Amino acid sequence: MKVGVLALQGDVREHISSLIACGVDAVPVRRESEIQSIDALVIPGGESTTIAQLSEVFGIYDLLRERIASGTPVYGSCAGMILLAAEILDAKVGQKSFGGLDISVRRNAFGRQVDSFESDIEFADGSQELIRAVFIRAPWVEKVGNEVQVLASINSHPVAVRSHTALATSFHPELTGDHRIHRYFIEHVARPALEKVK
Ligand code: GLN
Repeated sequence: MKVGVLALQGDVREHISSLIACGVDAVPVRRESEIQSIDALVIPGGESTTIAQLSEVFGIYDLLRERIASGTPVYGSCAGMILLAAEILDAKVGQKSFGGLDISVRRNAFGRQVDSFESDIEFADGSQELIRAVFIRAPWVEKVGNEVQVLASINSHPVAVRSHTALATSFHPELTGDHRIHRYFIEHVARPALEKVK
């Protein structure tokens, strides 16, 4: 499986390391031909408005939207979650997302006082072990569609959600060296989705 990490801005290298640790081929992507050659996509943490604007500058905004809409498995962390959301609350004026996940997301939802924090949270992958979650000016999910499953929450705000082909977390597993979320994406989201279309 070849997984592309959208390499316009943000913590691209960290995602590539986590994906390689999960045994898949991981490459940075920013050009049309690179995006066409991948089986699955990761959108990193960073700044969602910058990533969306740069995708237009690079002429790949529509292609990304289409690939995600047509069921290419995708994982977004933090800014990546915002970019997958059907609706962005507290968005910058004119801010666009790629869509693909039927959720409403509030940007910078945890507020200034808790700008960044870490927490050990339960993640619904069947393991009893808590997962260390790093939040940096993180969004939370305020509304989920019928097809969306909540995998983790903080104070009843969803911070990890999935649909059949998309996974999103408010936090940054790529920064902790714990590859559980990436493994979950590969084994429980991307692989089943890709096998179905074969
Ligand atoms: N607040 C940022 C945004 O709106 C996301 C922060 C992050 O990815 N750490 O894009």
